Amino acid sequence: MALRFYNTLSQQVEEFTPASHNTVRMYTCGPTVYDFAHIGNFRTFTFVDLLRKCLRANGFQLNHVMNITDVDDKIIRNAVAAHQPLAEYTKIYTDAFLEDCAALRLERPERLAPATEHIPEMVTAIEQLGVGQHTYATEGSVYFKIASFPSYGKLSHNDFSGNLAGARVDVDEYEKADARDFALWKTPKEGEPFWDTAIGPGRPGWHIECSVMAIKYLGETLDIHAGGVDLIFPHHENEIAQSESLTGKLFSRFWLHAEFLMVEGQKMSKSLGNYYTLRDLVAKGHAPEAIRYLLASVPYRKSLNFTMDGLKSAAIAIERLRNFKLRLETDRFAEGLNEQATARAAQASAAFTESLNDDLNTAEALAAVFEFVRDANSAMDAGEFRAGNAPAALAFLGLFDSIFDALRPSVKSGGLSDADIEACVAERTAAKKARDFALSDRIRDQLLEQGIILEDTKSGVRWKRK
Ligand code: AMP
Ligand code: ZN
Repeated sequence: MALRFYNTLSQQVEEFTPASHNTVRMYTCGPTVYDFAHIGNFRTFTFVDLLRKCLRANGFQLNHVMNITDVDDKIIRNAVAAHQPLAEYTKIYTDAFLEDCAALRLERPERLAPATEHIPEMVTAIEQLGVGQHTYATEGSVYFKIASFPSYGKLSHNDFSGNLAGARVDVDEYEKADARDFALWKTPKEGEPFWDTAIGPGRPGWHIECSVMAIKYLGETLDIHAGGVDLIFPHHENEIAQSESLTGKLFSRFWLHAEFLMVEGQKMSKSLGNYYTLRDLVAKGHAPEAIRYLLASVPYRKSLNFTMDGLKSAAIAIERLRNFKLRLETDRFAEGLNEQATARAAQASAAFTESLNDDLNTAEALAAVFEFVRDANSAMDAGEFRAGNAPAALAFLGLFDSIFDALRPSVKSGGLSDADIEACVAERTAAKKARDFALSDRIRDQLLEQGIILEDTKSGVRWKRK
């Protein structure tokens, strides 16, 4: 079946095709570079990466823009506190973000657009909104008048008709159901950086950058706009108000929103302090691909509870697939073809693709993978798997990896981490339990090659480094 997505705007699952030329014009909201991103942020960015890969798997080309918010309240506060110029401060965290993305194997969008490189375009847009009677200025700042945009609330499906006309907010983030006129341009406070422009000295509010850069690079109507659910209101609602007031056209046909990464029932966030950065976890010995796998394993519209056990299970799952691949590459199977195994590989591939096309149902896609691996391993143990079945099985693993990108081990400076070793040990124990002694021996030998010695004791397996 064709690719389909849940569209926040229509509140329906809809079939997706790009509006023109087979190219998906997509805009996703990027990081605010005031600090290292946490893995909650990366859940959303991993979703965007899966989205890219699934769009491409459906034969579409991509023209994807992601902004880098390199000026906002938090950035200015931190840069001033660090006595660093804004650009110097944000470069540190922009570079760190891009490094983290690379470690998590997230593809670069076709264009990264830093807000501060688009100030003149934002000023022009604010002037145009003024001509259209959508703005007013007070004390050097310019506000968007939400009463001038009657369909305000159409994305978040809130009825804002009872809101006070003229009530306004200066901060970039504010409470749900409390729609206010928001700042397009902010007058600088004492000691703050600013740009001298035709609409006065100041800096842009957060929302205008996305409208301006999306329209500049992708045109008036996007195919897809995506981000985390916390952006639906106010950020995306405000983007729609600005963009549609500027162009008179629908701003984006599809709106996709990823649910949160949670910790013990609460959103992972900087302000709650319940977060890990990618760097924290890698320093503890967790492989980036295990983190990627964990973040990808739950469908994006379901919240995902982060636990260390979950992360370990992700590492074990990857290890299982790597061992299966190794077995396919190194075992000597009897010549010929097992028709049933051929049919299983075809079914598994179809189920995998169909699950992803169903609004990126990654959990079901992974279930198809593991069911296939279990069946194929049993067929191998029973001597029923044939040499002629190996290419299709490897091709299916290739299909899996073209989306999940987990099989290639990350290059590490200090050899295998404790978490990697424990994942291998767990995989070996599972193999022994399944009486797959060839596999369990192979895992032991591989570990030995890496200088890890296993000892089977009454209380379980112990390991040590040589
Ligand atoms: P920010 O850097 O704060 O602008 O956020 C970058 C992206 O991360 C946005 O799309 C947010 O919606 C998303 N985000 C923030 N916290 C979480 C979380 N706990 N789980 C998933 N996505 C998040
Ligand atoms: Zn945005």
